[in-house]
Amino acid sequence: MSVDYMNLNGKSCPCGKEHSLSIEKVLIGKGKVNEICSVIRDYKAQKPFIMSDINTEKAAGNYVKELLKSENISFSEYIFTEKILKPDEKSVGSAVMHFDNSCDIIIAVGSGVINDIGKILSTLTGKKYVIIATAPSMDGYASLGSSMELDGVKTSLNSRCPDVIIGDTDILKNAPLKMLKSGLGDMIAKLISIGEWRISSLISGEYYCENVACLMRNAVKRCTDNAEGLLKRDEKAVEAVFEGLVIGGAAMAYAGISRPASGVEHYFSHVWDMRGLEFGTKVDFHGIQCAIGTLYAAKIYDKLRHLKPNKELAVNYLESFDLESYHLKLKEFIGKGANAMIELEKKEQKYSVQRNKERLNIILENWDKIVKIITEEIPESSYIEKLLNIIDAPKTVEDIGLEKDILPMTFKATKDIRDKYVLSRLCFDLGVIEEMSALLLN
Ligand SMILES: [Zn+2]
Ligand SMILES: [Zn+2]
Repeated sequence: MSVDYMNLNGKSCPCGKEHSLSIEKVLIGKGKVNEICSVIRDYKAQKPFIMSDINTEKAAGNYVKELLKSENISFSEYIFTEKILKPDEKSVGSAVMHFDNSCDIIIAVGSGVINDIGKILSTLTGKKYVIIATAPSMDGYASLGSSMELDGVKTSLNSRCPDVIIGDTDILKNAPLKMLKSGLGDMIAKLISIGEWRISSLISGEYYCENVACLMRNAVKRCTDNAEGLLKRDEKAVEAVFEGLVIGGAAMAYAGISRPASGVEHYFSHVWDMRGLEFGTKVDFHGIQCAIGTLYAAKIYDKLRHLKPNKELAVNYLESFDLESYHLKLKEFIGKGANAMIELEKKEQKYSVQRNKERLNIILENWDKIVKIITEEIPESSYIEKLLNIIDAPKTVEDIGLEKDILPMTFKATKDIRDKYVLSRLCFDLGVIEEMSALLLN
């Protein structure tokens, strides 16, 4: 590891928190998979349960089993046979039903979905959990919780972190190119996340830790500095992305919230995922979608930098806003997934006129500081565009097979996903969400 992310572990921090991490070991680098037998022995485990799918079996599963055989470690295995493994009831059910109770440690070989299922299986069985990563494609390796589909709706299930993460660059660099791009996309997204975390802390008094933010910034910088090498499968570039994604998970664990690694750009992706489940519209890799969301968000931040807030306009917009008819539109746009968002609003009262007015005053008083944070943290859209060009990644919804006209409503819906103060809520408070949404059509 080149960024020392462990130095926050177990330390009390000026932010007031004692940061801690439940991951016990992270092995990143060339040939690291060869340490799997000693990891098993360190835990005094007798019999691993190895889980993979048809692709990850070829990428690394086979090799891992050869390693175990060569050291006379017996194991049970389950290989998912689905061409595209879905994070749903069937997959979790298969994993649970095929689990061999005589096994005392779980080893998953794969990336997003396999790891999400591995985390759930480990939570249910109470067994130690090792993930051998096959692609640096998203930031869920080290994070708590599993991103799943339940009853056809996207949801996050509680699950534990892996105990050991192995990212062997010899394996990772051979992942499909699109998965490498996705990983870097998920890292570029953090440029928005960190900026929004600071803005929210200023406006709503939300907890913020500069040490955690700094950790994330350094990890992103290492990825963007090495971006040129990614398409050539350069080891340093691949390692930087994988390490950055692990740090993303660690940063969320340290902060106890998703702020360091996820902001409005992730919500763009979330909305497209929900629409995909409901209407069968196209869905792409998480990091690919987040990178597109990052570029759209950066375009709006470009405008916001030069905005002169107008109190009268903001108050008029707020007072004339019709929440009921907006919720009808939201249901139409997102489908079943909108029900949970509407229920959430009853508890959270994000649209309470009184609270919005109070917040508007804070925003107006601190506008210079907000612009300063935007300038310090969030790059101009031209920079994001350049990065995406370097790695030849999609930049628009059309590039991933979606219609452009979903953009305004996508942006509006990002403010309803959770009670998290993000760009779209700032635009709403300023009374400019209509014009900012329309901007995305240009
Ligand atoms: Zn701290
Ligand atoms: Zn992500």
